[in-house]
Amino acid sequence: MVFELEPVFNNIGYSIPVDYSLDLSSECFNSLYPFKDPVTVKGEIKNEAGIVLLKASAAFTMYLDCDRCAAPITRRMIVPLEHVLVTTLNDETNDELILIESLSFEADDLIRDDIFLSMPSKFLCREDCKGLCPSCGKNLNEGPCSCKKPVDPRLEALTQLLDK
Ligand SMILES: [Zn+2]
Ligand SMILES: [Zn+2]
Repeated sequence: MVFELEPVFNNIGYSIPVDYSLDLSSECFNSLYPFKDPVTVKGEIKNEAGIVLLKASAAFTMYLDCDRCAAPITRRMIVPLEHVLVTTLNDETNDELILIESLSFEADDLIRDDIFLSMPSKFLCREDCKGLCPSCGKNLNEGPCSCKKPVDPRLEALTQLLDK
């Protein structure tokens, strides 16, 4: 979505609404396409005392598999989007400033990056998901499997010492 920012930059107090659907259905994450439904982006771009701020949030549902047991999960996510938009960059070290190349501002890439940066490192079906048995592949959330427990090598060394 392109936002025409010229009136925002030129008028203190001026704001334009941000309210649209972003299609990320072709975006791959963890080898899946979890953004089946459009992302709802809502908020505003406002000139507050001469500083142009993007303040919005992206709301969407992710359709994924649990990272441990591969069960299908859906997760409702809300990602805050907050940036200061500038047309010239004096302080290159401030990552919060977003340099816009044109006053016709295409927001989709920025919002997509925000969404990907906000992803947790793991998606689990539940906090204490036990995962799959590495030998037989049984889902251990449904109960223990009949595989022998792998022996802790430190314990094995101790057993050998005791045997002598
Ligand atoms: Zn799981
Ligand atoms: Zn097993």
